[in-house]
Amino acid sequence: MKKLPLSLLLASLTTGTALLLSCGSDLPAQSSLSPQKNFQNSVKITQALIPEGRYGRAKNGRMSPRYITIHSTQNYGAGADARTHARLLQRGGLTSRNNSLGYLTWHFSVDAHSIYQSLPTNEQGQHADYEGTGNRKSIGIEMCENRGNSRAATLDRTARLTADLMRQHNIPLSHVVPHQHWERIRYSDGKNLGHKNCPNFLMTNGRPGAKWQAFLNQIKSHL
Ligand SMILES: [Zn+2]
Repeated sequence: MKKLPLSLLLASLTTGTALLLSCGSDLPAQSSLSPQKNFQNSVKITQALIPEGRYGRAKNGRMSPRYITIHSTQNYGAGADARTHARLLQRGGLTSRNNSLGYLTWHFSVDAHSIYQSLPTNEQGQHADYEGTGNRKSIGIEMCENRGNSRAATLDRTARLTADLMRQHNIPLSHVVPHQHWERIRYSDGKNLGHKNCPNFLMTNGRPGAKWQAFLNQIKSHL
């Protein structure tokens, strides 16, 4: 993702027309936000689904998830929290020219104190590798990096959510991968855009290393 000034982010929320870049690449709407308790690790998930049949759900395919893909937003503005990202997705605010859908989407946005769900886990997102397996077969989780947000608490909440999703969908730890795992072949021209350094703060020289392994261990502690 790219950094956006808070003023632009806030402007986007009030005008309903903006472009906020996500680590996948491009941003959303109004909605109904209602809290819901889920899962074993007691992570509260707020449902903020993209309207069915619109924007990033205009033609999403069905999915039986076999992987979980972890991202970080690289949006450092103070307002770029989980709720903001969810609302952007809800109004089709993240567009993309690199996939056939025309929007960026993912399943969960996580910050230090909340989790918002934008897509059902049985629908494909557009967060990893355009038309590749990462999008066709994985649940996408974005960790927020807004200024003032606790990274440690965000990692812990993400680890607990991931553990619950693994149990729910019978996904092994070996199939919990960083966005970096997927090779991105652009839809429009077949160009190989390589591997993205994402989630950047868990990669070591652009690849999974000790920090990624520590995060996997953290997930394991919640299984
Ligand atoms: Zn990513």
